[in-house]
Amino acid sequence: MVLPKKIRIGPFIFQIIPVQGLHSDGKGLWGEVRHTRSEIAIESDLADQEQYETLLHEVFHVILTQAGRDKETDDESLMDVLANGLMGVLRDNPGLQDWYDWKADNEPRASL
Ligand SMILES: [Zn+2]
Repeated sequence: MVLPKKIRIGPFIFQIIPVQGLHSDGKGLWGEVRHTRSEIAIESDLADQEQYETLLHEVFHVILTQAGRDKETDDESLMDVLANGLMGVLRDNPGLQDWYDWKADNEPRASL
């Protein structure tokens, strides 16, 4: 799978780095957020759907870290629940983002 090269999460842009052998390097990780380098490493030997789920899992780590929710970001099971849930919703509703973009562009704006 060719993942996107970068992803914007909140105010930051993270480089997505495919890494062959990440899982077998001793830590047993399928993905890893490298906050100091603004990188997300993903095991490239994973199947496509597993790479996608792993990317979303790491995105939730970043979102919670940015929100100062350090206790929750240590909960790997929670990251999987959120990643699998979002992956399913996005897959089952492929027009959802287009609908939201259209609505956001066409909603009357409050005048200042
Ligand atoms: Zn994790």
